Amino acid sequence: MRIGVLGIQGDIQEHLRAINKIGHEPVWVKDVPTLESVDALAMPGGESTTMTKLLKRFGIWDTLRERIVDGLPVFATCAGMILLSEGVENYPAQDTLRVLDVTIERNGYGRQANSFEADLYMNYLGDVPFRAIFIRAPKIYSVGEGVEVLANYNGVPVLVRHKSIMAASFHPELTSDFRLHMYFIEAIARLNEEARTEKQDV
Ligand code: GLN
Repeated sequence: MRIGVLGIQGDIQEHLRAINKIGHEPVWVKDVPTLESVDALAMPGGESTTMTKLLKRFGIWDTLRERIVDGLPVFATCAGMILLSEGVENYPAQDTLRVLDVTIERNGYGRQANSFEADLYMNYLGDVPFRAIFIRAPKIYSVGEGVEVLANYNGVPVLVRHKSIMAASFHPELTSDFRLHMYFIEAIARLNEEARTEKQDV
């Protein structure tokens, strides 16, 4: 499986490293042909307005949206999640891809100085929590029907999934705990398997 990392701005290297560590060959995606060639995509944290501007300038924005709508599996973290969202409550003019039915409050946990770490629990992780790093993190404001909440922090969703899209308010790529990247890959494999079985049933 070719797993791309949207490599325009942000913590690209960290996602490349995480994908490599879990045994896949990461692909740095910075143009349309490379985007067309990948089977899944990580969208890093960084600065959502800068990323959006550059993705449009490089002509990648529309293809990115089309590929995700067509089912390209995506794991987006922090600014990446803002890009996927339906919209930004506190910056209503900000353009987003509108492929994941959540709305966002940008910097909803405070400024850089309010960065923090927290232990998150989810079934998949068993008893060992995930140490999540929040940096000027987007706060999920609303979650649409059909979007599964995989983890909460103080009662607020911080990790969500809808079909083959997974998004986190925090930065799993900045740790050495790659379980969420693995979860993503396993989720894709499960969906592919289901699709294959459905085809056979027809
Ligand atoms: N605050 C950034 C934004 O709004 C996201 C921060 C991050 O990705 N660490 O784009």
